[in-house]
Amino acid sequence: MEEKKSTKIIEVNHLSKSYGSVQAVKDISFYVEPGKLFAFLGPNGAGKSTTINAICTFLKPDKGEVLVNGYKLGKQDGEIRDSIGVVFQESLLDGLLTVEENLKIRGSFYDLKGKELKEAVKKACEVTEMDSFLKRPYGKLSGGQRRRADIARALLHTPKILFLDEPTTGLDPQTRRNVWDTIKKLQKEQGMTVFLTTHYMEEAEDADYCVVVDHGMVAAAGTPLDLKEKYAKDKLRLICRSREEQKKLEELLAKEKIGFAKKGEQLEVDLQTTMEALPVLKLAEPFLEGFTVAKGSMDDVFLGITGKEIRE
Ligand code: ADP
Repeated sequence: MEEKKSTKIIEVNHLSKSYGSVQAVKDISFYVEPGKLFAFLGPNGAGKSTTINAICTFLKPDKGEVLVNGYKLGKQDGEIRDSIGVVFQESLLDGLLTVEENLKIRGSFYDLKGKELKEAVKKACEVTEMDSFLKRPYGKLSGGQRRRADIARALLHTPKILFLDEPTTGLDPQTRRNVWDTIKKLQKEQGMTVFLTTHYMEEAEDADYCVVVDHGMVAAAGTPLDLKEKYAKDKLRLICRSREEQKKLEELLAKEKIGFAKKGEQLEVDLQTTMEALPVLKLAEPFLEGFTVAKGSMDDVFLGITGKEIRE
């Protein structure tokens, strides 16, 4: 396949899609740069799957223009499908067959045969580190092992872009981290462009760029750092010498009209900038045993953008 160089490997312009009267995606525009880890974030029902399914040629949009690897959606869908690997929420693998058998069958769908097929399976297994369970039936694997097998399946035809629709949903935190490490490795070591959707905001910390959608629209976009600067407030946590001292400090803060929240044994003050901690600390110093200034998390970002928790 001819390689097309561009700073945008995916371009989505004014994409819209309705299901009957439900407007799932409303005029969404964004782009993805090659080799990046791109996170498409939003709560359940925000329109993430609809967008990803449209980009991947599985769903016809009502409006909008989409370019993937230089190919135009609706005109060059075959070329788009050759350029992408997709990990669906539902696996495509057969539970009764071993991982290896599954991958060989899937590889043959891409017209891979003989040595070429063997090599493709070997390479996909290497990057996903599946040696220890290659000969086991897919149905007998743990959730995390299955996910890695699903990812390997999507890599057989050496796509340029890997799409993962909520790859870690339903996995326990430890397994989520393992799967996440595999994804990051693919991007860092293989230079793969990774497009993923997730409703775990903390996973987006590792992304190069995030687009946050809510109600089918782009609510915010930027690097995790940009988003945190803009939407998540820093927090100053004050630890007092004793309960009595804390009580005195609470009164003083109230008198000075400095907003605070009680968090267990600590008082928490929202800051617009880190530097805002200084005058508060000066005031609080006589009562303090210690303090911390914490950067906002990506969960705070989501709260800042939408006014609600992502898993509400
Ligand atoms: P997300 O992936 O962010 O959870 P979806 O794209 O699945 O969001 O859904 C966006 C909206 O479209 C939701 O209101 C959902 O109920 C609706 N929707 C999604 N798929 C269909 C469908 N096949 N038929 C009708 N409504 C749908």
